[in-house]
Amino acid sequence: MLDFNKIINNIHNNLKNNVVKGVVASYIPELSKQDVNQFGIFMQHVDGRTFKAGDAQTPFSIQSISKVLTLSKAIAFEDNNLWKRVDVEPSGNPFNHLSLLELENGIPRNPLINAGAIVIADILCTKLENPKEDFLKYVRDIANDQSINYNFKVAESERKTGFNNYAAANLLKSFDNLNNDVDVVMDFYFHQCAIEMTCAQVAKAFYVFANSGRCFNNIQHITSSQVKRINAIMLTCGFYDESGEFAFEVGLPGKSGVGGGIVALLPNHLIISTWSPGLNPKGNSLIGMQALEQFTTQTNLSIF
Ligand code: GLU
Repeated sequence: MLDFNKIINNIHNNLKNNVVKGVVASYIPELSKQDVNQFGIFMQHVDGRTFKAGDAQTPFSIQSISKVLTLSKAIAFEDNNLWKRVDVEPSGNPFNHLSLLELENGIPRNPLINAGAIVIADILCTKLENPKEDFLKYVRDIANDQSINYNFKVAESERKTGFNNYAAANLLKSFDNLNNDVDVVMDFYFHQCAIEMTCAQVAKAFYVFANSGRCFNNIQHITSSQVKRINAIMLTCGFYDESGEFAFEVGLPGKSGVGGGIVALLPNHLIISTWSPGLNPKGNSLIGMQALEQFTTQTNLSIF
């Protein structure tokens, strides 16, 4: 039997003193305040066992990890139009690239790049009565943790500097792929990215994707067929233009965020999340990628 406690603590010890840690995101000024030396790992087994190392209980900005959560909330409405408004192909481009969007007539490549997530945010702004409150409630419910919240300073920091994201939203609007006002959708989008969670809370929230749509409390939030689609999108599109590299090195569906968090999962087995704020040139946590590569190599647990 695998000794997860030992494996995770060894990986943490191996990597925590790495001299090369990557660079903390600075294009969102509030994120640049993060200490590059923080590093946490949390593993949640579907049988209930948990294992952790380092800063696994320190909240961080989940950023693009939120895109999987909004997608799951939107998918649950079973709106056939969703897949007409956003595609399911890897972009091979950075998360905020606009040229493809123009070339492809305002249909974003996938729901995990910014333009695609903005379309999903638009859908939630239409479907939810109180979008920000209702979405936060959903995240708290699936993570079984009512203490999760937005960091309003981060949301404001993103709003002030979010010129590229506003450009994407305006482009979507010009192609008739945004139903609500740009400002309404962007307010929601900046808040979803500014949710703060610990590695432990992220792993618990992603339990639904490892457990055929049932959360910790055994409530069915999405169907197993919807989970299949979400996990497939994570595998092919979850790491910006490094999704192939993540599949190659780690071999699990997952999602990263520019706050330095990564979450990955093996369906019916486990969820593992890491946080180390230093990013590699592609925008993924440098130490987090290495930690997950070591984890699947040492345990031989991957979807392949
Ligand atoms: N809020 C960030 C942005 O829109 C999310 C980027 C990310 O984590 O990939 O730029």
